[in-house]
Amino acid sequence: MTDAVIIGGGLAGLVSSIELARRGFSVIVIERKHYPFHRVCGEYVSNEVRPYLEGLGLKINELGVKEIQRFCFTSPSGRVLETDLDLGGFGISRYKLDYALYELAQKVGVKFVLGETVESVEFASEECRIKTSNKLDFSAKIVLGSFGKNSKMDKALDRDFTHKKSPYVGVKYHIRTDFPQDLIALHNFKDGYCGISAIEEDKYCLCYLTTRDNVRKHGSISEMEKNVLWKNPHLHRIFNKSEFLYERPEVINEFSFSPKKTVENHILMVGDAAGLITPLCGNGMAIAIHGGKIAAELTADFLHQKINRQQLEDSYQQLWKDEFSVRLWIGRTVQRLFGDEWLSELALSSFSLAKPLLRFVISKTHGKVIT
Ligand SMILES: Cc1cc2nc3c(=O)[nH]c(=O)nc-3n(C[C@H](O)[C@H](O)[C@H](O)COP(=O)(O)OP(=O)(O)OC[C@H]3O[C@@H](n4cnc5c(N)ncnc54)[C@H](O)[C@@H]3O)c2cc1C
Repeated sequence: MTDAVIIGGGLAGLVSSIELARRGFSVIVIERKHYPFHRVCGEYVSNEVRPYLEGLGLKINELGVKEIQRFCFTSPSGRVLETDLDLGGFGISRYKLDYALYELAQKVGVKFVLGETVESVEFASEECRIKTSNKLDFSAKIVLGSFGKNSKMDKALDRDFTHKKSPYVGVKYHIRTDFPQDLIALHNFKDGYCGISAIEEDKYCLCYLTTRDNVRKHGSISEMEKNVLWKNPHLHRIFNKSEFLYERPEVINEFSFSPKKTVENHILMVGDAAGLITPLCGNGMAIAIHGGKIAAELTADFLHQKINRQQLEDSYQQLWKDEFSVRLWIGRTVQRLFGDEWLSELALSSFSLAKPLLRFVISKTHGKVIT
């Protein structure tokens, strides 16, 4: 029996696997794709996890990251508000970041099963049985569910939030364009917002969140972009004056910002599987990394028999709630301001008059720096 099976090799899964393997436990990560691969993500990493990632052995400066210290947001009509970021962050593609962590995990002894989708987890007599779509069968003392924001596993576990259809669509491009490298911008448009920031090799990540209805109304993503996003003059310029590096965008749908349970069927949920913060906060990755650290530390205590399963599950739920639930709630609340044209114009006017308030809201969606 393996000590831990981790379902999903995104940031949460990779970080928790490295933490556990470094403590001498046997760990298998099952990931449905093959590294390296692109994901829908704004690719701005908050500095709150930078020292921790470096401590884990990731050589961030050698990845060609871009340092980001300023934030601006624009209303759908194009009005601009800019502020410095107290903590700041860095830009790096998930293609590169996840691959670097995957290599690090292999070095510390994590075993990977790639191209396999987990379909079920059964728990009996202190043993977790994990089955994949190709009929592979694993057995573990503990399972971490780091399968992200849209996974077959959510349906398999009949998780509450899957009963309600989600309205969101996320779209991502990599582009080359003329834009300051130390700035992250959030451009609002009707029923959505679009972030742009620099990543490695002088590329930029252009990533937006909108609703399925918005796409349906205009027939296709490209028609919606022309008819809706381009009404914001900043987005009009970006879409018309940039080189788009993919043939087609990365797209994701069916994901939910609703609260989720952090333990289900004895699986500790980590990262987006435990709760997804709205992307405008720019720190879902930091939460996934920090959550992976917390889950691994408690799992190590359980595997060392310092705590029993019930204590593990109770402590994890409590710690997760203390650390992240208020931030997720603020993120959901602030996002409401940006879905509506009129409200986002109003938000921009109000924050222009009270810039410290904007910095206060940003700080409330972020945690303390972790090491
Ligand atoms: C539009 C958008 C923009 C965003 N922008 C930012 C940003 O700029 N900054 C930021 O910090 N955060 C951002 N986020 C959030 C961030 O992307 C996530 O919070 C982060 O990726 C969570 O990491 P994770 O490890 O939980 O999940 P993921 O990185 O999604 O990894 C989950 C993994 O599980 C695998 N998987 C799923 N199901 C199975 C299965 N059954 N079997 C095996 N493998 C499986 C998947 O293939 C995937 O590799 C954004 C989110 C969205 C939607």
